[in-house]
Amino acid sequence: MKISLIVPSVNQAPTHRPRACVYCEEPILHRHGTVSKPLEDHKMSRVEAHRYKCLGCKRTFRHYPRGVTNKTQSLRTVVLAALMHGLGLSCSATSHLLGALGAQVAKMTVWRDAQEAGEALRKSRPAGRVRVLGADETVYKVKGREVVVGFVVDGAGGRTLGFEVLFEGDGHSFREWLEPYVKGFGVEVLVSDDNDSYSVAAAELGLDHQVCVAHVRKYVAKRSKAILEQAEKEDRKTDHHERTADLEEDLLRVRQLVEDLGEPGEAELGRMHRRYLWARPPKAKERASAGYRMRMLTLELSSKWGKLLLHRRRPELEMDGTNNASERAIGKSKVRYKTMRGYKSTPGMSNGIALTQWLYSGEDEHDLAREMAA
Ligand SMILES: [Zn+2]
Repeated sequence: MKISLIVPSVNQAPTHRPRACVYCEEPILHRHGTVSKPLEDHKMSRVEAHRYKCLGCKRTFRHYPRGVTNKTQSLRTVVLAALMHGLGLSCSATSHLLGALGAQVAKMTVWRDAQEAGEALRKSRPAGRVRVLGADETVYKVKGREVVVGFVVDGAGGRTLGFEVLFEGDGHSFREWLEPYVKGFGVEVLVSDDNDSYSVAAAELGLDHQVCVAHVRKYVAKRSKAILEQAEKEDRKTDHHERTADLEEDLLRVRQLVEDLGEPGEAELGRMHRRYLWARPPKAKERASAGYRMRMLTLELSSKWGKLLLHRRRPELEMDGTNNASERAIGKSKVRYKTMRGYKSTPGMSNGIALTQWLYSGEDEHDLAREMAA
């Protein structure tokens, strides 16, 4: 991924007069002297600021050159500190690196710069139409505790639309989490992994639902292996060898159907399911038999078939049937996270996520100073 990072320049002295008084907007101002301002910056140690007196409110204020604010740091060291931190350096490593370049920026200042950048980025909300919404959750550690964060992406382009701390994992909470996106972007389809809370939310929000086919294939492979192993164990106790051979063949067929994802799969799974109706549910404290597990697997897949095939049934939406877009979005903020031992606060975590999502958004140009000024 190519990223072009824009770092603002710093001027030695103001090149133009202020347009109006910073307090009362009065345009008529009197120049009221010049002050020399010490600056933490890797190229300049001092800049000139001009003082002005307002004829309206009689107050005086400083007018700074481009790239300078009332902070001791230049704007470019704020941006550099936030970028270095966002790209993976710790606060103290960032402080050392800026120090080596000639700008003394304390590690607490680096932390504040990164927070300020993250807060600014969190305020900017994407706009536009999104027909396919991808959603997924991940876990972060905040002060040693696990915090679940839900990510929402544009399922087609992969753009991150937002993220939220999720306190509950039930269908109702997922609906509340996703509803503003669905309404704001005019969403038609939800893509997610095979978690019932997403199914509930999708149904309540009136969305079509695509369940990630990669997840389902993986879990069908795992379940068929477990069912077959159990059948072989049951075999040794009784004498049902033929039945196990049939089961093995059926399991292979199930995996093939899930691989092919054809329209007739639903009916075939339904027929297969009826052939396992002989398998009784387990009694209390009893383990489910291999046959019963097969009965349930075929039932589950045939009833879910429409959610697996949605991407084929609605080709105009250009979905690939997976939830990979959401997983990639989460990955953008995990690169940074892997080098840390967790976050110290929830806002700190949110700012860190905002900064990394923005850095790896895939946009060509990244102008942090512009985002922070907006
Ligand atoms: Zn004024």
